[in-house]
Amino acid sequence: MTEPPVGEKGAWPAPGPARESPPGSRWLPPLRLPRALLDPALTGLPAGDGEGLVTVRLGIGAGRISAIEAVPAGPELAAAPLALTPPVDPHVHLDKAFSWSAFPNRAATMAAALAANGREADQRTANQVLERGEAGLERAWRYGLRGLRSHVDSAGPAAEASWQALLELQQRWQGRLELQLVALVPIAFWSSPAGLELARRVAGAGGLLGGVLGPPFRRSASDRDHLLALLRLAERLGCAVDLHVDEGSAAPGAGLALLTGLIERQGCGVPVTCSHASSMGLLPLEPRIRLAERMAAAGLQVVALPTTNFWLLGHQDGLTTPERPLAPIRLLQQAGVPVALGGDNVQDPWYPGGDFDPIELLRFAAPAAQLAPWRRLGLVPFTSAAARLMGLAWDGVVRLGSPADLVVLGAGSWSELLARPPQRRVLRAGEWLQPPTAEAPQPGLAPFAARADP
Ligand SMILES: [Zn+2]
Repeated sequence: MTEPPVGEKGAWPAPGPARESPPGSRWLPPLRLPRALLDPALTGLPAGDGEGLVTVRLGIGAGRISAIEAVPAGPELAAAPLALTPPVDPHVHLDKAFSWSAFPNRAATMAAALAANGREADQRTANQVLERGEAGLERAWRYGLRGLRSHVDSAGPAAEASWQALLELQQRWQGRLELQLVALVPIAFWSSPAGLELARRVAGAGGLLGGVLGPPFRRSASDRDHLLALLRLAERLGCAVDLHVDEGSAAPGAGLALLTGLIERQGCGVPVTCSHASSMGLLPLEPRIRLAERMAAAGLQVVALPTTNFWLLGHQDGLTTPERPLAPIRLLQQAGVPVALGGDNVQDPWYPGGDFDPIELLRFAAPAAQLAPWRRLGLVPFTSAAARLMGLAWDGVVRLGSPADLVVLGAGSWSELLARPPQRRVLRAGEWLQPPTAEAPQPGLAPFAARADP
């Protein structure tokens, strides 16, 4: 027998009986991983416990998973921490992040957000976008994200500067974070000569075509014509599409119905993501189910964005109302539509909070969208479903040979995770990152330190 397995820290639970490490590998201490994030084909692993978790010991070597072993439950393993593979955020806005302090939207309405966004975008510079994007990606990285899709305001004066800055960041972060970029413009823009020129450049940069589809909807057929023109353009250039659809309360599901109908009749050869899909949640049950089934058959996928939706939508005369438009996540999943969750806005006129922290999004979504993380469909919208939606090379399921990438949480159960924000340690390619700065003592509180206890 060779030496006992090597733990990363003395404080971790004892790793149990000594085991031989695969050549060139080391063992991590036991971890509680969701069965949904472990290779379903792996024999020798039990089904998840009541929390959907399996206690495993992972061998790592050369930055990859070299061994996966189940650890029988026992008292010495009770403190094994919860761990996930690094989450993915399929919907952010790096170009406007952190602009709230200069362009606040204290009315907290969609109209006021749009107006403040416009004023801010009119003076946006490449350096600002570079700083905002770098700060956002640095946070995302330390919090454990491994991929983000950012929409980019692409029709105004700041478009050129924003793309330059974000393409530079895409290069700078290559190999650590996969950054996808979506050109966000009014749908009609894609039918113009300037739209065609932008689409060619976006395609050349490997980006996606995006846009906003209602509300409001025009009475004429122009929305349908412009949407069809966008889909045809995207197919011609081989670009995926990601739309802001039905982000409101009016005309429930109208944009999704229009898009689905078009694809049913005309087909579409590129992946199409529907971001928001909020007002669909206000449809009566039967039409909601029928639309979800048609969306599944049309191959559409959905990114639900509860934070910004709950902040901006459903205001009625200053009252908190029961009508809180949000994509019907679980119904869509049951119909077979892939659903992921995104953080959307971070400290910008659309939402004053947020910090590119996927664990905080999971903690928020659990009560807000009734996504129980011990259910496979409650967890995958942040992990493997989000990775597949973005077309990432790794779906975030731990297999022999997959990246040795983990987010280890200072919580031993889902209940503990929901009870308080956990500290975390992020493993990337077998190396531990420095903890997020949010875990450091807050300098502003230093003058208020308590005296030492007697
Ligand atoms: Zn958005």
